[in-house]
Amino acid sequence: MKRVLNLWQWSRSPSGRWWCGLVLSCLLSVSLGTIHQSPTLAQDPGGRSFPRMTSPRENLCPPSALSRVRSHTVAPGETLEAIAEEYDLFPTTLMGMNPQVRNGVVRPGMRLRIPPYDGIEVNVSPDDLWSDLAEEYNVRADVLFEANNCNPPTDVAFIPGANWYPYRDTPDPTPTDDDPGASPVLAEYPLPSPVEPLLGYGWVLPPGASSVVFHSGWDLPATVETPVRASEDGIVAFAGVQQPYGNLVVINHSRGRQTRYAHLASLDVEQGEFVDAGQNLGTVGRTGTPDVPQPHLHFEVRNNSELGWVAQNPDTYL
Ligand SMILES: [Zn+2]
Repeated sequence: MKRVLNLWQWSRSPSGRWWCGLVLSCLLSVSLGTIHQSPTLAQDPGGRSFPRMTSPRENLCPPSALSRVRSHTVAPGETLEAIAEEYDLFPTTLMGMNPQVRNGVVRPGMRLRIPPYDGIEVNVSPDDLWSDLAEEYNVRADVLFEANNCNPPTDVAFIPGANWYPYRDTPDPTPTDDDPGASPVLAEYPLPSPVEPLLGYGWVLPPGASSVVFHSGWDLPATVETPVRASEDGIVAFAGVQQPYGNLVVINHSRGRQTRYAHLASLDVEQGEFVDAGQNLGTVGRTGTPDVPQPHLHFEVRNNSELGWVAQNPDTYL
């Protein structure tokens, strides 16, 4: 008790006050530091701009795209196009993943990296957030998050739905007062009348499938032979067979926008042809490998980014 009293008396003395002040200010700064740090710590795990994943959600996360990259050794007689078709990929995807074949030529014995679906591999700086990359590549942040192990960006990321492209054409001009930029809404619906999609954009579980896949457009139900119409004026960049799309029409529009019309029964346009909004491009069919069994038009809207044509959610444009 005497010791306590002595301590109390000491604390009232000039040197005691100084020491007590020091100890109190240290305790205060530690506790303030904790308060300041807690929001940062709460944001850090689970992907910064995303809420922390709970364990049931983690179980739903698909294996990351880069963990599923396979190797293919080129056999004599194989072409880049044939290898791409074997894996249901665009030749440009293989060109993006394998710089040694960016001239379009493969040689026997070359080992190629084969991603599980179309996209591009990009270097990421430690400060990048998924929201930054989403803006840069016009891909939804949650799509990037799920394609990359549901974790914050590390040094390399896979951007699903982006096509590697050797150069950038028709860049979006900066909007001015005189030219506020194109309306985001497309001029025409790709079918004679609007319908509810059978399968939407993003990670979907197609009927009968055992795992989720990235679906780069909308599957719009329509009977076979229904006319398919151009969504906007443009130039036909591709009209022909491209697996898994089957009969495919690709139209490049102004301001770096592109639309794709897949699984068509017949084609009414040719590559290089100028088309008007609403012009018939062909008819609904069942060619290629559709994700749903009912006849439908697989419709995509893509925007040109620094590294290629990136699939967008058509919801924004229709
Ligand atoms: Zn589809």
